Amino acid sequence: MPQRHLHQATRDAARLARPSGTGLDGGAVRQRMVARLRAEGKFDERVLAAMATVPRHEFVDSALAAQAYEDTALPIGHGQTISKPSVVAHMLGLLMGGEGARQRGSLGRVLEIGTGCGYQAAVIALLARQLTSIERLQGLHEKAQLNLQRVPLPRAPRLIWGDGRAGHSASGPFDSIIAAAGGEDIPRAWMDQLAPGGRLVAPTAATGRGQVLVVLDHVVDKGVSHWVRSEHEAVLFVPLKSGVV
Ligand code: SAH
Repeated sequence: MPQRHLHQATRDAARLARPSGTGLDGGAVRQRMVARLRAEGKFDERVLAAMATVPRHEFVDSALAAQAYEDTALPIGHGQTISKPSVVAHMLGLLMGGEGARQRGSLGRVLEIGTGCGYQAAVIALLARQLTSIERLQGLHEKAQLNLQRVPLPRAPRLIWGDGRAGHSASGPFDSIIAAAGGEDIPRAWMDQLAPGGRLVAPTAATGRGQVLVVLDHVVDKGVSHWVRSEHEAVLFVPLKSGVV
């Protein structure tokens, strides 16, 4: 029951919130951010409800907390950035539109590549049955662990320090896969670990268009698997790199 989890998470967040002196803990500024996104009329309501409960300011440096509820990307250290709230809302909305997710009303089992500070992982955890999130930079992997411990979630995400290009077959197959870093193409391992009916959303290089959001659906027709690809708008994500640091 995703709805019940959302309500529970909201209650827990209210109970556990510690005053940080920024005036952001009450959630009014966050509700205004979500109201502005809602007014655009193009985002999935379940995604917005999840974003309304996750304190984004807890995931950024305290010096940047005042900007946490503006629709901007913010630095999270190690040369990486947390995506704009509208980009998170858009990508998760695309995932919720996959065939399996529509039938289930949830993202199911999810793989996220690029944990970063853990903000998007917290939002996904409210929309999924199970989340595995991989980060190649040990410093960010550890930061995300600390950040996510402070935010009450119905189920703790499984955080992995590793090269996400290999996916995580031990936790798969996945109903939904989302990448927060963009590569030249979609790694074969992600396609192999995408369950039938599953959907993958990833920034990827497209001929003549730079980086675009690519949606890949694993469709099974008469017992044969097809991966149906569609290209969406141009985006600018940090590069998907190899190896761990
Ligand atoms: N979703 C994150 C955004 C992180 S930015 C958030 O909410 O904060 C993208 C992240 O992808 C960076 O932290 C970068 O280190 C990571 N990344 C890049 N290539 C990767 C790879 N091959 N495997 C895992 N993580 C990767």
